[in-house]
Amino acid sequence: MGESRTVGLVLDALFERHDTGPGHPEHAGRLRRVRETLTDSGLAKRCTRVEPAVADDADLQRAHAAEYIARIEQACNSGERLIDSMDTAICPESAGIARQAAGALGHLCDAVAKGDLSRGFAAVRPPGHHAERNLSMGFCLFNNVVVAARRLQAEHPIERVFILDWDVHHGNGTQHILEDDASVFYASVHQWPLYPGTGAANERGVDAGEGATLNCPLPPGADSDAFLGAIRDTILPAARSFEPEFVLVSAGFDAHRADPLAALEVDTEAYGEATRLLLELANDCCDGRFVSVLEGGYDLDALAATTQLHLETLLAH
Ligand code: ZN
Repeated sequence: MGESRTVGLVLDALFERHDTGPGHPEHAGRLRRVRETLTDSGLAKRCTRVEPAVADDADLQRAHAAEYIARIEQACNSGERLIDSMDTAICPESAGIARQAAGALGHLCDAVAKGDLSRGFAAVRPPGHHAERNLSMGFCLFNNVVVAARRLQAEHPIERVFILDWDVHHGNGTQHILEDDASVFYASVHQWPLYPGTGAANERGVDAGEGATLNCPLPPGADSDAFLGAIRDTILPAARSFEPEFVLVSAGFDAHRADPLAALEVDTEAYGEATRLLLELANDCCDGRFVSVLEGGYDLDALAATTQLHLETLLAH
């Protein structure tokens, strides 16, 4: 297929203005490093740049309670530095930047759904997968991937969305917001036990969504083979039976062996293979429609190497 099919990229310094304060692991330097790496390597130039867009209330309310959105904005406007928990830091601009993170991802998904782009990667922050309908958690304000999945279903002729969350932490917010809905299949491979404590293998969805949640917890020390094995042997067969029309990836890179926040032993190359596996799924089931969004990844060298390989793989396949 090669580069005649265009790859979209969200990469913008505005996401570095979400200021989490000194000593915070989810800091602006993460995205600065990703931006410099993808630019200096020449990869960014080979992509079609997708500009940030602002997620409006209708977008956000597909994932969050209206009172929650208002509460985040109020807290930012009044100069609070923390929201809901000690780990989720905000600055006056954070609500607006979080709206643009969700909006940029939505804009990229629109372009892929319409066929203007073949696939893409959104390097945004704040991340989203821990954000619950009515609660911020784990550095996350708005649940970017849920907002995107709901937008695809609401505004495009797409009914069935598959989300793979390969961040080392379980995406509690994504699971909980979607767990009673059979039209979005949520699968996660993550370290367990680890923050946030959810994501046991017996959490399989509730009510009408029973069976549309799949958790693959891995013990501390699990390596690339275990990580890729969970994706290849457990998650992808289930995803194929689901017959998705769009593949979304909550792409955290913190299962890497160098990451300071977790204890998996995944190496850089595994992220290239994981990307290839998901592109194969998208090509087989979804006419290639694939979009990934940055979640975690806290060792800057590892984050640079893995996001570079991820984007190289999107460009090459
Ligand atoms: Zn994480």
